[in-house]
Amino acid sequence: MFRIKHDYVESKFIACILETYSLSQEHVQLSDSGIGNPVLVKFIEGCYRQFLQSDQDYNFWFDRQIIECSYSPGTNRSKVPDDKIESQPLFLAKRTFKRKQKSEVQYFYPISGSHMYSIKPISIELDPFFEFLKIDIPSDLSTENCPSSINLYKYSNGSIINDHTCPGISDSAIADIAYENDKYYWVLGQVKKIFKCTKFPGQCAMTFLKKLNRDRHESTCRIHTKVTSKMVN
Ligand SMILES: [Zn+2]
Repeated sequence: MFRIKHDYVESKFIACILETYSLSQEHVQLSDSGIGNPVLVKFIEGCYRQFLQSDQDYNFWFDRQIIECSYSPGTNRSKVPDDKIESQPLFLAKRTFKRKQKSEVQYFYPISGSHMYSIKPISIELDPFFEFLKIDIPSDLSTENCPSSINLYKYSNGSIINDHTCPGISDSAIADIAYENDKYYWVLGQVKKIFKCTKFPGQCAMTFLKKLNRDRHESTCRIHTKVTSKMVN
C-alpha cells in the first residue's frame, strides 16, 4: 500500500480514480514520491478540473457509494464502517490522525479485499453488491439458488450460522453473505460461524465452532443423544 500524494489534486479524488479503474501497480508506478506514470497524472489532473467545475459531490461524480475504510499501516488492515451498502460501493483506504492538534487525512492505494474487516455484519442491497463483486445476480438468492462464489449463511441473534440448509463453505467463494428473513448482510471476518449437526435436522441441536468437530460428531451422532440429554434434564 502506498500513500497517495499530489500538489493540488485531493488524494481522495486520486484514490477514487485508481480504485474505479483498479489500476495495476505497474501502470500507476506509485511510490513514496507520488504517481510515477506522467500520462496518468495528466489524466487525473484533467478529470479533477472537470470535477471541480461540475460542482457535484464524490458519490454523484463517480456514480458509486464511496465508503472510506480506516486503514492502519501497522496491521495493513482496513476497517469497513457499518453503513448500509445501498448502491455499488467504492472502497477507499483512509488514515486519519492528529498532528499538532490538527486532524490530518491520508489515502492509500490499493485497498485489499482480503485485508478488509468489519466489527459487525454490514447490511447490503443485493443487486448493487453483486454488481460490485462482478458476479451474475441470481433472481433470488436462496440456499437452493446460490452461486458457488458466495458462502451463504443464516444470521440469527447476532451469530452467523451454517446449518444443514446452507450450501456450505467453498474455498473459491469471494464473499460471505448472511440472511435473516428478507435482509442480507456482508460478513467480513470476526464473526463466529456456528456449525450445526446436520444428521438429524430439527432433532439433534448440537452446535460446534469448528467444522471438523461437527463432522466428527456427525459420524457418531445418534438421535438418542438428544433423548439422553432430555432424560438428564
Ligand atoms: Zn448430532
